[in-house]
Amino acid sequence: MSERVILVWFRNDLRIHDNEILLEAMRKADKIVPVYCFDPFYFKQNPSGNTKTGNIRARFLLESVADLRRNLQKIGGDLLIRVGNPAEILPQLADEYHVNEVYHHREVANEETDISEQVETALWKIKLNLKHFIGHTLYHKEDLPFPIKDIPDSFAVFKKKVERDSNVRPCIATPDHIAIPEITDAGELPTLQILGLDEPLDDPRSTGRYIGGEDEALAQLEKFFVSNCNVNSGKKAANSSKLSPWIALGCISLRQVYWEVTKHQQLNNINCTGLLLDLLWRDYFRFMFKKHGQKFIITSDAADEPSEFAANQDELFENWKNGQTGVPIVDAIMHELNATGYISSNSRQITALFLVKELKVDWKKGAAYFEEKLIDYSPASNWGNWAFVAGVNDARESRYTIATLATADLKNDYIDTWLPSIKGADYPSYSGSLVIK
Ligand SMILES: Cc1cc2nc3c(=O)[nH]c(=O)nc-3n(C[C@H](O)[C@H](O)[C@H](O)COP(=O)(O)OP(=O)(O)OC[C@H]3O[C@@H](n4cnc5c(N)ncnc54)[C@H](O)[C@@H]3O)c2cc1C
Repeated sequence: MSERVILVWFRNDLRIHDNEILLEAMRKADKIVPVYCFDPFYFKQNPSGNTKTGNIRARFLLESVADLRRNLQKIGGDLLIRVGNPAEILPQLADEYHVNEVYHHREVANEETDISEQVETALWKIKLNLKHFIGHTLYHKEDLPFPIKDIPDSFAVFKKKVERDSNVRPCIATPDHIAIPEITDAGELPTLQILGLDEPLDDPRSTGRYIGGEDEALAQLEKFFVSNCNVNSGKKAANSSKLSPWIALGCISLRQVYWEVTKHQQLNNINCTGLLLDLLWRDYFRFMFKKHGQKFIITSDAADEPSEFAANQDELFENWKNGQTGVPIVDAIMHELNATGYISSNSRQITALFLVKELKVDWKKGAAYFEEKLIDYSPASNWGNWAFVAGVNDARESRYTIATLATADLKNDYIDTWLPSIKGADYPSYSGSLVIK
């Protein structure tokens, strides 16, 4: 009898721990063909002239894919790497390696689901099935106390019911051996240049750069526990984890974070309530996209009406992007974003609120800019949070104002670091009504 071969298509699940598609494929097949495709779609320019993936995130992605290959090699496998349209590449590889089925993790945002559909159609033409798995959320869809169509639109209600009636599943075992067919051409990791991007310059003002990959993600989680362990100083709320770049690419699973946090909370006197709440926010936005699709971010609300936008919104948007609005806190944050690809949650809300409420620029321009720049860009989290700030969806619960967010730690030293030009004569003055003391 011939061997059964399953192709595992990695996308935003670049890890071998807690990875259901990998373990399930190993259970069902004799041989596995692990594949990653660098799809040119993600490196093209969007209609407003921004690159979909900026060079800081692209470098992080390259590092993450390289680390996945290393980790697969450590257990006897490899990763096939290709540059091109997955709807063309996957059927070719399936044919070459006599594949019986293809596995992947289901996404929720429309561009990602479109790509899955194209792959599904292409595979179907050669009579192969693309099997979808659910693996990006903390709570498994099947364990929610309601069907997707009845998920509460209010985060508060969603949280209450999920925490009361659902449980987080345990992590799936990490494989210690993987069988692959003989591979003739595993493919080289592309360079940034091949992807059409320049090498990013690391800014000396940043506190350190994010390095992609599963190993770095697990190390960051450990670092988080060490720096928040308050055995002698009493239980304090933990700082933010800075795990989002790795979570976005699936270098670490939400369940891994959840179970490690739960263990350390008990052992080491750490209060991680905020972190657990944030993981739930992530689930909420994904499930909202699953329930509503694009309607979650496109409605007939005033926030989406062109008449609501400033007449010179293009000019205002350029100033915002370049940290040239004349409002120091906003400009400093935009300089940090442009230089490092990462800004805190507070900073994202300040700059987003400023763009939408103060400058009256279309929020979708801001979301597209964050898509390019953020090292942790995640479609549902980014577009969901932006819509939230703009008041487009249920996120009308949004209770922040720029003044309440612009806390002391974001002023003085922070502004001096990221906005030295504030002392120069040509720093723009702001003529709007906003005053942040
Ligand atoms: C306008 C705007 C755009 C955003 N775009 C993104 C994005 O593209 N990708 C992204 O991961 N987060 C996004 N966020 C959410 C949030 O700012 C970041 O997740 C957070 O700052 C990451 O830092 P952390 O890992 O230290 O978070 P922690 O506070 O340690 O939280 C742990 C994890 O929970 C998740 N999380 C935290 N807050 C949120 C939230 N509000 N919504 C969804 N998930 C959350 C993240 O995966 C994060 O790593 C955005 C927020 C705003 C206001």
